[in-house]
Amino acid sequence: MLSPTDRVPVCGRFAPSPSGRMHLGNLFCAFLAWLCARSENGRFVLRIEDLDTGRCRREYAQILEDDLRRLGLDWDEGGSAGGANGPYFQSECSALYTEALELLRTKAHVYPCFCSRADLHAASAPHRSDGTVLYSGRCRSLSPKEAEARMQQRRPALRIEVPNAAYGFTDARLGAYCQNLARDCGDFILRRSDGVFAYQLAVVVDDARMGVTQVVRGEDLLSSTPRQIYLQKLLGLRTPEYFHIPLLVNEQGVRLSKREKSLDAGALFARFTPQELTGWLAYLAGQLPRPEACTPQELCTVFCRSKVPADSIIVPDALLNGQ
Ligand code: GLU
Repeated sequence: MLSPTDRVPVCGRFAPSPSGRMHLGNLFCAFLAWLCARSENGRFVLRIEDLDTGRCRREYAQILEDDLRRLGLDWDEGGSAGGANGPYFQSECSALYTEALELLRTKAHVYPCFCSRADLHAASAPHRSDGTVLYSGRCRSLSPKEAEARMQQRRPALRIEVPNAAYGFTDARLGAYCQNLARDCGDFILRRSDGVFAYQLAVVVDDARMGVTQVVRGEDLLSSTPRQIYLQKLLGLRTPEYFHIPLLVNEQGVRLSKREKSLDAGALFARFTPQELTGWLAYLAGQLPRPEACTPQELCTVFCRSKVPADSIIVPDALLNGQ
């Protein structure tokens, strides 16, 4: 434990991908990340994760900022407001990611991978716990000559070899979590074959350069965290505190999908005032016994992390269908 004197000032962040209008799950994540940081008098950063330029759009980032403000959430730096630790749009950070990639090449085995999607999904391919395919290591031992020859045919992705070793951390909600990287994760991609840097690399570089000390995000990203810790260690970066928040599910226990139109920010703001919506978010987060209208600011003083539910959160029909 850190003593009060060597505590680093808290800095939280919200890191959405602007690939469409936010939905209830994104608002819930932004709300909790904001509350975690602000209730500790921390800074708050908005980072736009628009690496996938095919899916992400600037207009969506603008709407996203408007929706956050409408809900009553603010941030000290990032998004279109900029700040001292920019750029805050990942699409503008290629030089920084290239630099990190070059450093990783000196610390670990980073190699070109020519496998096609079909190669990766070969029938026998083992799967990770999150259902994605565990890489077989097929291109790991290509000789420089072979790799050179293949490069004439297709542009490779870049992968990093992972050790047969455990990487773990203590999640602020879920407790100890650990993966043996070779067994549970496999060599993973740092840069895709189309030149787009991978989320795993970008998130590590950006959280560090923005001084982020606490990462609050959906539990679906829990299994990414050991990979990120591995990269942090190789790059000599500090590991932030992680708080993975529960997923929102419907009454049947199925994760709410982005396609659920009644739950996109536009539909929610059409049915609820910002204060009513905040009341719902606070209720889902275990902070209020009933969904009573309030502001994020009012919740700051009463916010208690340990009240955030341990299991997935069932979104009641009243919120799904709105009245
Ligand atoms: N950009 C990711 C998303 O929208 C979040 C990444 C993170 O919080 O680490 O799902």
